[in-house]
Amino acid sequence: MSVDLHDYIASVSDFPEPGIVYRDISPLMADGVAYQQATDQIAAYAQDKGVDMIVGPEARGFIVGCPVAYKLGLGFAPARKKGKLPRPTISASYGLEYGKSTLYLHKDAIKPGQRVLVTDDLLATGGTIAATIKLVEELGGIVVGTAFLIELKDLGGREKIKDYDMLALLQY
Ligand code: AMP
Repeated sequence: MSVDLHDYIASVSDFPEPGIVYRDISPLMADGVAYQQATDQIAAYAQDKGVDMIVGPEARGFIVGCPVAYKLGLGFAPARKKGKLPRPTISASYGLEYGKSTLYLHKDAIKPGQRVLVTDDLLATGGTIAATIKLVEELGGIVVGTAFLIELKDLGGREKIKDYDMLALLQY
């Protein structure tokens, strides 16, 4: 029996600023059945794509990607904010639905030719995932798929990453 994952997303109006409807995945993570179901669905997709490495942006990309990596016995590399990674990095800047940021990846995070799945909790404008994809490709990785718990359909993210395969478990 599967659960409806929509029931585990809390929608919060005007957070973190007026006009934004924040889609909070905390209830999904807090429920073992829902979190496992979401993880299993993304793991099946990753297996189908022949993924051999997973990369996710700080912080909720870890929440989605790490359990999938564990389930499939794969590695996970974190794309992090400024000042978090201790060894030589590459970087990519991007705009957010709210704000602007830069992501960093260790230079040895990906081996050239590795088939990479990029994960995040939510696709909005696509800026975060596009920056993460750019980092992976700069290191010679092949992005064979992208996976999200949630896609916000009106913000153009899917168009921004149209050259890549994509899985979104929920849409708003
Ligand atoms: P974007 O780069 O515009 O695709 O934004 C995606 C990133 O911002 C994800 O890492 C989300 O965690 C976060 N984010 C953007 N919009 C929302 C939203 N409405 N609710 C929750 N998280 C969001």
